[in-house]
Amino acid sequence: MRLSFHGADRDVTGSCHLVECAGRRFLIDCGLYQGSRALADENAGDFGFDPASVDFVLLTHAHLDHCGRLPLLTKRGFRGEIIATVATGELARLVMLDVARLQEEEHSSTHRPRHGTDNKPGEPLFTVADALECLKAFKRSARYGEAIDLAPGTHATFVDAGHILGSASILLEPEEAGRTLRVLFSGDLGNAADPLLLAPGPPPRADVVVVETTYGDRPHKPMDASIDELYGAISDTLSRGGNVIIPTFALERAQELLFVLRQGIEKDRLMASMQVFLDSPMAISATEIFARHLESLQPEAAQLFRQDRDPLALPGLHFTRERAESVALNNVRGGAIIMAGAGMATGGRVRHHLKHNIWREECSVLFVGFAAKGTLARQIIDGQNPVHILGEDIPVRAKIHTINGFSAHADQAELLKWHEHTGAARTFLTHGEADAMRAFASRLGKKDVQMPALNQSFDL
Ligand code: ZN
Repeated sequence: MRLSFHGADRDVTGSCHLVECAGRRFLIDCGLYQGSRALADENAGDFGFDPASVDFVLLTHAHLDHCGRLPLLTKRGFRGEIIATVATGELARLVMLDVARLQEEEHSSTHRPRHGTDNKPGEPLFTVADALECLKAFKRSARYGEAIDLAPGTHATFVDAGHILGSASILLEPEEAGRTLRVLFSGDLGNAADPLLLAPGPPPRADVVVVETTYGDRPHKPMDASIDELYGAISDTLSRGGNVIIPTFALERAQELLFVLRQGIEKDRLMASMQVFLDSPMAISATEIFARHLESLQPEAAQLFRQDRDPLALPGLHFTRERAESVALNNVRGGAIIMAGAGMATGGRVRHHLKHNIWREECSVLFVGFAAKGTLARQIIDGQNPVHILGEDIPVRAKIHTINGFSAHADQAELLKWHEHTGAARTFLTHGEADAMRAFASRLGKKDVQMPALNQSFDL
């Protein structure tokens, strides 16, 4: 048996791990590189294995950095099966079609005929047609806690990771020559304090674990303090007559914020008259998917849905799907809370809102998620001034808030507890920046801990 790593190596994006066993190949996730590694070359580069040789993809969750290269995998010859939970399948469809459309748009003016399967400069990484072809490979759905047969003697079990709707850790039990190993992939692990989603369950026991380390070096601020900070920042900004811009991940963070804003109104912490714009077609569609998966929600939110009292609805909430509606928001001078993607401001509509508001001192920008090195979000958080947005240097005069308790990831203490519960003798660290990994490795003590490099492989 061999385990090899083809992304998320000392970095938080591009998750892609391969298990080879008894002549079969199992891929866990196939994500896109984002942020400083969003270079076309990097995403268009070789996978480090032959896509046609992969039998199964087991998908932990629908974030772009875990599923975003699946259409490329199909385009380059993958003909196997993709297995995910129902909610992950629904969300991954949104995410993959969205990125395919963006790819087509970005390259529409420079499009040239394709030769072979390599991406030439000026060509999209993949098209909507590739994404639709890839979606056909989602044949079976996983249910939490139920083993799925993959091959004689080999099965996989998905357990709730509490990170985003449908997210899972995956226990793969491959068998070779009468020997079975328990290999557990954490996927991304959720924050137990998430007000909307259930906390990650205790993990199963495993011999080998591959664990994410996004927050391997630090604790979160408590959720209650973060919610107070959010309410305070919004109230202050609206009373100054400015707008609040929140770069928002479309999956999970947007819905969590709607839920928290609704609670704020009910508790008289926020004014019911405030105008909230969810300016993200994907976030709007994802919000609709939430209502179909009450099994993953905290009891309070699930109960409200069952009573037909949508916990994600607000009196002043506007969904702006159309581009023209989004552009019209540029004329709103004050009194608006605008939530738009991308979460790390690497692209998308939020860049326009930042351009129109970040130079105005009555406005504020609220960062409520992880910001990878090299992204516009990280530059603003680190105090860069001016910042380069859409071809212009813009001075930063708005108030900048970084509220880190909203993280969708487990913090160091939660990761350590999770790891201890697995009882694993051998550990591979992925999905973290090198400093976070080293800090986490030192907390694991003397255990067998590796920080794999790109395309590095290990005998199990
Ligand atoms: Zn994730």
